[in-house]
Amino acid sequence: MIMRTRFAPSPTGFLHIGGARTALFCYLHARHHGGLLALRIEDTDIERSSQEAVAAILAGLEWLGLTPDEPPVWQSANVAHHLAAAEQLLEAGKAYRCFCSRERLDALREQQRQDQTKPRYDGHCLQLSADEAKAMATSHPYVIRFKTPSEGEIVWEDWIQGDICIQNSELDDLVLVRSDGTPTYNLAVVVDDHHMNITHIIRGEDHISNTPRQIHLFQALGWEVPHYAHMPLLHGPDGAKLSKRHGAVSVLQYREEGFLPEAVNNYLVRLGWSHGDQEIFSQQEMIDLFDVRQVGRSATIFNVSKLLWLNGHYLRQATPERLAPELLYQLQRLGLASDPDPDGLLTLIALLQPRCKTMVEMAQASRFYWVNSVQPYHEAAANKHLTAAIRPVLADLTEQLAQLPSSAWQTDPLEQLLRTITSSHGLKGMGQLAQPLRVALTGSDTSPSIFEVMVLLGRDRTLDRLQRCLEWIP
Ligand code: GLU
Repeated sequence: MIMRTRFAPSPTGFLHIGGARTALFCYLHARHHGGLLALRIEDTDIERSSQEAVAAILAGLEWLGLTPDEPPVWQSANVAHHLAAAEQLLEAGKAYRCFCSRERLDALREQQRQDQTKPRYDGHCLQLSADEAKAMATSHPYVIRFKTPSEGEIVWEDWIQGDICIQNSELDDLVLVRSDGTPTYNLAVVVDDHHMNITHIIRGEDHISNTPRQIHLFQALGWEVPHYAHMPLLHGPDGAKLSKRHGAVSVLQYREEGFLPEAVNNYLVRLGWSHGDQEIFSQQEMIDLFDVRQVGRSATIFNVSKLLWLNGHYLRQATPERLAPELLYQLQRLGLASDPDPDGLLTLIALLQPRCKTMVEMAQASRFYWVNSVQPYHEAAANKHLTAAIRPVLADLTEQLAQLPSSAWQTDPLEQLLRTITSSHGLKGMGQLAQPLRVALTGSDTSPSIFEVMVLLGRDRTLDRLQRCLEWIP
């Protein structure tokens, strides 16, 4: 039988970093075993679900390259199946109708609180015969409850947590269908997992408490119980459960902040899983090496500085072609270039990628290329380097550059020319000329090699910027 995993987000918000990690682990597990990844949108909570959240989840998965192998399944489309399963359990005497009023249940809970016993349904409606209950159902509101065995236990071998054993006496008679006729989460999940032929369920450990209930349902319905792997939750550096304040934002915000999906995936895979002390994993290596059984049990700490380090690595390693769409995305966000020339874009990337940690940094560092004028200059850089003393040197440079034949507009001859001018004006070092020139051409005193910048800008733009600079210097 083919291995099938599923990622089952509730579309009540964007795809955050914890959800993305679950999706990645499901994806890697499926790929590692030659299986399939399914996506189920758990949209039955109509009030909290939204189309925007669905779109954000799909976009986040797509950006990370964790696209499912089949079209998404919408849980809300399966309600008839959920209800049919509840009916099957009723018929088999494994579930029953419960007519207890809210008041009775509240009073029961209050009594249990006073007695300091576990809050649970007391099985009051089990006294009704099936026929009595059926007759009452025509005129009274009711819920359908699962008849949990009072003795025995549920045991499963969790692929991450090890053996887990829960006593049935710990479990309540779970509501399967609410009084408004809608299925509850545990019923819907079991029915959907069965219909989708899911063999392996990988999800957060916050679902461990649901698992014995779900196993009961699988067994009562006569369906094969899938394997379970419950992942430890993510925590922030302060040890508290990861939340927005730790940067647990939408994965798409990482894109906005200039991270590459390769880096985010590589970062996520190491949250709870390791392979020796290896830190860098290509997509294929992750697939080859990942084993959900090696995921650790302790909570993992989310740490943005490591993500930044990985991003720098992937940024340096990528081909300019790979980075072009990411840079374009950032340029558009910054309103810098909507339709840049492809050659310039690729050359810029090659120049900047060794120097940047994020695509936002790269877009900002490439600003000089896209604008017509780099004025106003970076104030501190201009005050420091564009002095009256340097003006005649820049003027001389401008003149000589203008006379340089086009064929000599290359890094080596340009460097030679700068060297000659540096010594003919008695400057201490080439930096004394290169820095003012850098400000004139890029607006600031940090940029890649100034000769590369001149080649990239070309003769006309270089001379134009020098001219404007000479006019600017007092
Ligand atoms: N929809 C549930 C959630 O987003 C996941 C259910 C499951 O994986 O079984 O937490």
